[in-house]
Amino acid sequence: MPFHVLVIGGGIGGLTFAQGLRKSGVSVALYERDRAKGDRLQGYRIHITPKGCRALHDCLPPELYDRFVATSGKPNTTLGFYDDRLRELLVIGDENAPEHYIDSFKSVSRISLREVLLSGLDDVVNYGKTFTRYEQLPGGRVRAHFEDGTHADGDLLVAADGVGSRVRKQLLPHAERQDTGALSVSAKVPLDDETRSLLPPQLFAGSGFLFGPQGKTVFLAAHEFRSRSSVARKPEAGLLMDNAADYIMWNIVTTWERLGDRDKLERMDGAELQQVAFEATEGWTPQLRKLIARSDLDSISIFPLKTSTPVKGWETGNVTLIGDAIHNMPPTAGVGANTAILDAQLLSRNLIEYAGGRMSLAEAVGGSRRGRYPCASRVGLRR
Ligand SMILES: Cc1cc2nc3c(=O)[nH]c(=O)nc-3n(C[C@H](O)[C@H](O)[C@H](O)COP(=O)(O)OP(=O)(O)OC[C@H]3O[C@@H](n4cnc5c(N)ncnc54)[C@H](O)[C@@H]3O)c2cc1C
Repeated sequence: MPFHVLVIGGGIGGLTFAQGLRKSGVSVALYERDRAKGDRLQGYRIHITPKGCRALHDCLPPELYDRFVATSGKPNTTLGFYDDRLRELLVIGDENAPEHYIDSFKSVSRISLREVLLSGLDDVVNYGKTFTRYEQLPGGRVRAHFEDGTHADGDLLVAADGVGSRVRKQLLPHAERQDTGALSVSAKVPLDDETRSLLPPQLFAGSGFLFGPQGKTVFLAAHEFRSRSSVARKPEAGLLMDNAADYIMWNIVTTWERLGDRDKLERMDGAELQQVAFEATEGWTPQLRKLIARSDLDSISIFPLKTSTPVKGWETGNVTLIGDAIHNMPPTAGVGANTAILDAQLLSRNLIEYAGGRMSLAEAVGGSRRGRYPCASRVGLRR
């Protein structure tokens, strides 16, 4: 029987990993709880670092990497720091940096990235399969059980089932997530001449942070296309799900303690959250408040910032984890998806070595875990 890999979860990490194995002919099946391709459309853009782009380039067939580049927005090459009056403190990076096919930052719609990652995997992805538990089988194989009463057997089970990972709960029950006490309120604002005029030009060549009193910060980033020809427009979806529209994203980070009743805040609609954003930025630059006023109300959301607690290394076996399933981090650094993609690259490369007889399975799986520690440990996971 050929070496066969089971993947639980078809998010950014699981799909990249499946693509990486598929590209090299390693047998893989992915199980996703959603019922259809479109169930997990998420509206916001995602920022992919040069390392993340290289990992995608490694894992994807050339025509899919081409599509990833073609559907990305203008690159973000600078990062600015401002005070709450939008006075520049520091700008790093180079706004004239040449765009590179691989080695440059890319801003991509999650919807477009998902379409790319799902391409060509129709015979790999099984929808409507909610993983419940795994079981060790005699002879070193492993069985995944699903809510619908079915099961699947393989030689290695890879958990890419995100923050609430059921695989993690079984394998590492002591690895928990922690509420940081902080939250984020975010929204999309249509990018037009008026909203463009509110912000410094640097923010259209990159992104920026505004620092205010009481430790509050606002993150601003524009997602702007060079041309629309490569992305199919879905205007009926509204700005949140329109993956072809130019927009500015704002994101306020503060603590629940400062904002008041958490239960009440989590039940608020867009208009109420917009009011919360106004109150949180009272006294800040009028440009920011004008931007908040122009927000698309359906796109405003509030969410808690959580992180993983450090876990000690564990014995390498035939079950392992990648992405948020093992190192969930607050989105404030913009590295969670990038780390999931790097995990996928490293583990798929190692398994290709194993399948070619150049590495043992323990080296392939254990080595990929050690390889990603330096990156993830700064944000959550430690040995
Ligand atoms: C607002 C926001 C902005 C962000 N911006 C960035 C950014 O700019 N750059 C960046 O690098 N990161 C960013 N991140 C983080 C990034 O989104 C995550 O780190 C990334 O999605 C993790 O990928 P994953 O594949 O591990 O998990 P996910 O993408 O969450 O995928 C998990 C998958 O598993 C499936 N699943 C779950 N349970 C089961 C089950 N029991 N059975 C079967 N399937 C299951 C889910 O349906 C899902 O498809 C951001 C996060 C947020 C919230």
